[in-house]
Formats: sequence, structure tokens, C-alpha cells
Amino acid sequence: MGVSDDGKPIATAKLARQVMDYCRSLDLPVIEHSEDVSLAAGRGDARGRHFNTLGLRGMPAAAESVCVARDVQLTELTGARLHIAHLSAEGVT
Ligand SMILES: [Zn+2]
Repeated sequence: MGVSDDGKPIATAKLARQVMDYCRSLDLPVIEHSEDVSLAAGRGDARGRHFNTLGLRGMPAAAESVCVARDVQLTELTGARLHIAHLSAEGVT
């Protein structure tokens, strides 16, 4: 079992921290959809140059990487377990 935000990413670091605190106390992993919607601007996924080669306008890779960085930092703060459900941007590690 775990808790997921897939389909509607957690918008703020404050809420993400609260979720991680609760999940840590319940020993449940957080399964996240890594997307900062304020950067995604309603676009599709972040497949970088391959996506753009096809003439499609994806969200910037930063919309994904910013969220991953935020939540990795929050796992260090809270001790929560984090599973990143899927990534599409190049260079996000
Ligand atoms: Zn997702």
C-alpha cells in the first residue's frame, strides 16, 4: 500500500511535507506524479528534444525536475519513502 497524487500533483511544498509526515508515521510510501503545474502550463509531458522533433509542445523539463528536487529534499527532512511514478524529461535524475 501507499499514497499517490497521480493525476493531480501536490501543488505546494507545505502540503507535500504534510503528506510525507503522515505517510512516514504510517510507514507508507508516497508515490508521486512529479510535475510543478505552475511551470507545466497545461502542456503534455516533458519528453525534451524528441517530443519537440515531432512538432509537439511539451512542458519544460524543469516542470518535472523542480518537483523531483523538492520532494527528494522533503524525504531527507521527513524520512518518508518516495517512489516517483514516472519521468519523461531527459536529464532528470
Ligand atoms: Zn502521473
